[in-house]
Amino acid sequence: MAFSRRRMMAAGCSLAAATALPAALAEGGKGASGKGVSGEGAGEAGVKEASHWEALDKKRVKCTLCPRECEVADMERGYCGVRENRGGKYYTLVYGTPCTTHNDPIEKKPLFHYLPGSKAFSIATAGCNMECLFCQNWNISQFRPEQLETIDLPPKEVVARAVEAGSAVVAHTYNEPVIFYEYMYDCAVAGRKVNVPSVMISNGYIREKPMRELTEVLGAVKVDLKAFTEKFYRETCHGHLQPVLDTLKVLRSAGIWFEIVVLLVTGLNDSADEVKRLAGWVAGELSPDVPLHFSRYSPYYKLQLPPTPVRTVERAYDLAKKEGCNYVYVGNVSLPGKANTVCPGCGEVLIERLGFLVRSNRIKDGKCPKCGRVIPGVWKTEDAFKRGIIA
Ligand code: SF4
Repeated sequence: MAFSRRRMMAAGCSLAAATALPAALAEGGKGASGKGVSGEGAGEAGVKEASHWEALDKKRVKCTLCPRECEVADMERGYCGVRENRGGKYYTLVYGTPCTTHNDPIEKKPLFHYLPGSKAFSIATAGCNMECLFCQNWNISQFRPEQLETIDLPPKEVVARAVEAGSAVVAHTYNEPVIFYEYMYDCAVAGRKVNVPSVMISNGYIREKPMRELTEVLGAVKVDLKAFTEKFYRETCHGHLQPVLDTLKVLRSAGIWFEIVVLLVTGLNDSADEVKRLAGWVAGELSPDVPLHFSRYSPYYKLQLPPTPVRTVERAYDLAKKEGCNYVYVGNVSLPGKANTVCPGCGEVLIERLGFLVRSNRIKDGKCPKCGRVIPGVWKTEDAFKRGIIA
């Protein structure tokens, strides 16, 4: 049965609650809360004045957080469904109220050059600023906060829970963290004090100013570059390509660690020509040292195509290497050796991976132990907030 976004965002849905809440409770959550977020500016659960908006006439507001720049009338919400105009002031409705928490390997995000082998305490809320027809987390991303059960978890408690769970980082993930910007920002600030960096697992659909502010407090970013054509972004994700490319350039200039993932969708963005152009742009406009992951699509949500042929993923890997990318990886598929980190200087295998498991890590002091080449990345927690690591 096909659902329209409008229908899902407007109607309550027990499926979403049924899938999101058990994960929260499994991690020891406190259950749905009717209380406000203690001591951090919110009265009603999840409600806090938003960052990045402008007042317009007749009590309307303009949200300046993401490229949609929604203009919102009083008592209405923006496209993402989690930001609301109340009497001419703009509010986030998901501050401190995640709908799920989980402790994942950081390789699942995936971040391969940022504290490999560590755990990421992962949180998500309702809502998204895109609608990808293949979304794996549509049962939270395409819903409004009141349609999901949530827990009360202010930023300091997020960090405390991460420490308690033995996680090296807090990951803002599953749905799009741009739309819970204020919560992510405050978690990042709280984590810096105890060296538990926040990482943002994002579609990169954010305006420059808020992104630059985030680079000051986050540890790393992963961006899904969903394709290299405007057509795919418009028709399959209900977004646009150029703002994402702009975000990648902002990350590069800010010097924060970042990696890129491309989900190869059967017949829609997986041609040799598109992969070559994408990889050439990454190597030329960003750096050959930015890790580039190609992931295999499986049917989800509204897009029911056959899974990407394994040969297509392998071809993308080879093409990106030929275009000059030094660190290329595959995901959601078993291709022996192609998820390993290999020294571009001497060919030595440096990190051996099996699925999300790091089987061995031979990087020593950030260098290849055989030829001494510097391997870009963040390898020690002491360096979690280091800047300028891609030469
Ligand atoms: S963050 Fe939400 S409200 Fe703001 S511009 Fe983007 S979609 Fe619209």
